[in-house]
Amino acid sequence: MTPVQPVRGTQSLLGEDADRLATVVAAFERVRRLYGFKRVEVPTIEQTAVFARTIGETTDVVSKEMYSFEDRGGESITLRPEFTAGICRAYISEGWQQHAPIKVATHGSAFRYERPQKGRFREFRQLDAEIIGSGEPQADVELLGFAEQLLRELKIEGAILKLNTLGDPETRSAWRDALHEHFRSRASELSDDSRARLERNPLRILDSKAHQDWPVVDSAPVIDDFLTDEAADFFGKVTQGLDAAGIHWERAPRLVRGLDYYRHTAFEFVTDRLGAQGTVLAGGRYDGLIESLGGPQTPAVGWAAGIERLAMMIEVPARETSRAVLVPLGERAEAAAQRILADLRRTGVAADMAYRGNMKKRLSRANDAGAAYVIIVGDDELDRGEAQVKNLATGEQRAVALDDLTAAVIAA
Ligand code: ATP
Ligand code: MG
Repeated sequence: MTPVQPVRGTQSLLGEDADRLATVVAAFERVRRLYGFKRVEVPTIEQTAVFARTIGETTDVVSKEMYSFEDRGGESITLRPEFTAGICRAYISEGWQQHAPIKVATHGSAFRYERPQKGRFREFRQLDAEIIGSGEPQADVELLGFAEQLLRELKIEGAILKLNTLGDPETRSAWRDALHEHFRSRASELSDDSRARLERNPLRILDSKAHQDWPVVDSAPVIDDFLTDEAADFFGKVTQGLDAAGIHWERAPRLVRGLDYYRHTAFEFVTDRLGAQGTVLAGGRYDGLIESLGGPQTPAVGWAAGIERLAMMIEVPARETSRAVLVPLGERAEAAAQRILADLRRTGVAADMAYRGNMKKRLSRANDAGAAYVIIVGDDELDRGEAQVKNLATGEQRAVALDDLTAAVIAA
């Protein structure tokens, strides 16, 4: 029979690779609590309209990457490509509005039909943080503080916060017109992809990954020339807040977000360590999104980060080790060892049992498991109510009363 295969672009991880993901999530959970973000859970599947209406038909995510299917009832369902839209749907349909403003965070799988490559998968994992119902620039500052502290705790060095504003709707539409004009006049120099975006979403050309587009992008008009006083004032308050909090940032006047719903603050934390996938965390303010889902006008700001991309950049996580490994010799010893093992674990001591192989093999397994002690239980020792405790670091071995075993392996 042909052996079964995984779905393209999915991952199955054992040991260190899985530990890396867990380490990123643990840091996220720690910092989330420090910043007072509530944990939320949202479904993996939503009605397709939730993503089509928010992310925008002209983005790659909606036009090429969505995992959509018809369910048995004929409804169009999509596996979430990101969290924001689902959280906003819940904000509207689950009455979360009554708690506004809310600071919420979650993490889990996201799905995009992409060409798999290093750091790019079809099922990947994201961290996500959102502040919904708050239009104050302080919300942007707090959210960026969360992101910066997370990256700092993960010791991801060289991640730089690139910051831009997309202004208010008035600013954005004036800038959009100017960009449209600029790119149209040089359309012949643009890549096919960018020419296709020209009419529907000229902002996205700024985001182009095609080298051919870069000279045209570099000479494109910058948003500063179009900022209304209100928009400039908002951006000024965000940058002042960041400076006051000691968060380093760099202005990136052509930074836009791939998704259509952003206003005001847009940002990415970028590194040069992952080649083409240099963005490790990205987000911005999306004051228009909840309305586009049929909810009330609601200001909101958020970010998402790819867990796999962060996991590639952290140090090797500390191995999970057993404090003690039991080696029972003989049948009676095995029963006694089960008891000792259960007692150790109930007391909160990580312990394991080597129940196969000769003595030498079992001792070397205990060593590999990083154990500090081996507890050898033989029939003769049992008759005396004792077991042998071997300190693997010093090689010293001594008899210990069964009642004192826990204390003996806890002691340094
Ligand atoms: P890219 O430009 O790399 O395609 P994106 O703009 O599509 O990224 P976002 O929609 O902003 O990415 O998603 C936020 C984060 O999720 C990214 O910064 C990245 O770390 C991660 N991410 C996005 N797509 C993938 C994927 N296919 N595999 C792994 N991680 C991903
Ligand atoms: Mg993408």
